[in-house]
Amino acid sequence: MSFKKLRIFTLLLLLVLVAGTSVWEGMLVRGWLRPLEVVIYPINGDRNNEHSDQTQAYIASLSQSQFDEIGDFFQQQSQRYRLQQFPGMHIRLEPEIPAPPPQADSGARSALSAIAWSLRLRYFALRNTPFWQNLGRIRLFIVFHAGEQGKPLQHSLGLQKGLLGVVHVFADRTQAAQNNIVIAHELLHTLGATDKYDAQGQPIFPDGFPEPDREERYPQHSAEIMAGRIAVRPDQAIIPANLAACAIGPKTAYEINW
Ligand SMILES: [Zn+2]
Repeated sequence: MSFKKLRIFTLLLLLVLVAGTSVWEGMLVRGWLRPLEVVIYPINGDRNNEHSDQTQAYIASLSQSQFDEIGDFFQQQSQRYRLQQFPGMHIRLEPEIPAPPPQADSGARSALSAIAWSLRLRYFALRNTPFWQNLGRIRLFIVFHAGEQGKPLQHSLGLQKGLLGVVHVFADRTQAAQNNIVIAHELLHTLGATDKYDAQGQPIFPDGFPEPDREERYPQHSAEIMAGRIAVRPDQAIIPANLAACAIGPKTAYEINW
């Protein structure tokens, strides 16, 4: 075999291995037969600005127990569905990664740029986190920002293939409950759930409603986690205060194989 052929062969083999591993990992987590393993890697999103020290101090103050309510949320919601025996969720907080994750293109994202970004993210994960010990685990890169009042952060993204997510949150204790909502949302993306809100941020009926079958459609009492808001009127939706005000609706449950 010539060198060129060998190189192509090796590349193809690598691609098949990566694709095969992704499929296997996806089947493993969506089988819900063993506890869901989630690893959180904090990242300082203010490394290049004047808020760096402040955000660094916030990251240093993080404790694993701050994320416990995410596991509780899954446990409690699973009881509404045929998954009677939720195997549990282990969320582990790892030390900070001193490098920023790849930036997704803002604005209109073509399919090709989405693929390119997902490859860059996989490469980032490969370089900054252990490979073997993370097989079958969901890795979430949580980027903390001091942020500005009323100014939204970059869009967070969860990838089903590769079980990876990049989540942008506020480095602020008063935002911890909101941060956990965003983390749970992206975590569900990695498990195959899709967004359920329209261009105006309004929950889409029926999929974005926790109780779509209820006779009285409005107001809903909680937010479908993939819709992100509580639909109170056809043209109005409010932001839930915490995960206790969120729910996993029937469509999302179906998507994550519950
Ligand atoms: Zn989303």
